[in-house]
Amino acid sequence: MADYDPDNIFAKILRNEIPSTRVFEDDETLAFMDIMPRSDGHLLVIPKSPCRNVLDATPEQLVAVMKTVQKMAQAAKAAFDADGVTIQQFNEAAGGQEVFHLHFHVLPRYEDVSMRPPGKMGDFDQIAQHAEKIKAAL
Ligand code: 5GP
Repeated sequence: MADYDPDNIFAKILRNEIPSTRVFEDDETLAFMDIMPRSDGHLLVIPKSPCRNVLDATPEQLVAVMKTVQKMAQAAKAAFDADGVTIQQFNEAAGGQEVFHLHFHVLPRYEDVSMRPPGKMGDFDQIAQHAEKIKAAL
């Protein structure tokens, strides 16, 4: 497996070198909105410390991230009055990973509604509004 690249896009977000719409952070984790949302309220949870994915994460990183994933899943479900929540996580390119800093997707879901296709940029103002709804539910 390749080494962690400190110039990956999420490392730059953590260092505030590129903008992001943050919704929650604690000492060990950050939650922010996905710029290509596959459902309203689609957000990402990452550790603040470096690791590529589940394969090289420490138990401590996984525990910290999963605590925030649960918190964000509960808040996003409430904020969007969703029927359920999908949690997605990919490991290495063959596993579907595109950004090589550990992250979990949190997606509010509704009965009989499919996720939108990947790769379509969201509307910035709408994403910002959705972030505010999730923050209010926290
Ligand atoms: P994955 O690695 O799990 O396959 O996908 C990476 C995710 O990061 C995608 O859902 C994509 O929309 C999101 N993403 C990629 N670049 C950026 C970015 O610069 N900012 C934010 N907020 N999300 C990003």
